[in-house]
Amino acid sequence: MSREIPAVLQKARALFDDLTPLATDCGRLCAGRCCQPMEGENTGMLLFPGEAAYYEGLPGYTVQRTPAGELLTCSGSCQRQDRPLSCRLFPLLPVLRPDGVKVATDLRAKPVCPLARQGKSALRQEFVSAVRICGQLLAQDEQQRPFLEKLTSQQDELKALRKQFGGGSHV
Ligand code: SF4
Ligand code: SF4
Repeated sequence: MSREIPAVLQKARALFDDLTPLATDCGRLCAGRCCQPMEGENTGMLLFPGEAAYYEGLPGYTVQRTPAGELLTCSGSCQRQDRPLSCRLFPLLPVLRPDGVKVATDLRAKPVCPLARQGKSALRQEFVSAVRICGQLLAQDEQQRPFLEKLTSQQDELKALRKQFGGGSHV
């Protein structure tokens, strides 16, 4: 059984070992909606490159390889040390802009997360800073940077769609 993931991902994940979006448990606001499967949808958390190795043989987790990337599904509860980076960052995301790494509200989070609808100014600022530092670490890594670029493009596409069909943006 392997729990070996790239060192940069270990560092990125460790930034959030004790840091959550609010000082209190935000799951009480919404009954932990981001951890519940959505009916009729093939939900899962997108894994960063090399992160799937952590979940090989780990009970309660399944990795699916899909056109969107490697998706992790879980049982709806987890030990904090096993939480993938996507869950640690949620509902924010580092994005790559010409003038560097920026912190955006993940537009995919808006339908489920009340914090995402409020925007990052409502969150603990240490958490927002950790997302920025995480993005800077990943942007310097040759395996992770293209993945961040892809996530950034997806956010931009969603933003354009929201603009076309209605809905605000916090990016
Ligand atoms: S949906 Fe948002 S508010 Fe609810 S537990 Fe997840 S991050 Fe916290
Ligand atoms: S891994 Fe943990 S934090 Fe992520 S969706 Fe599953 S239960 Fe929620």
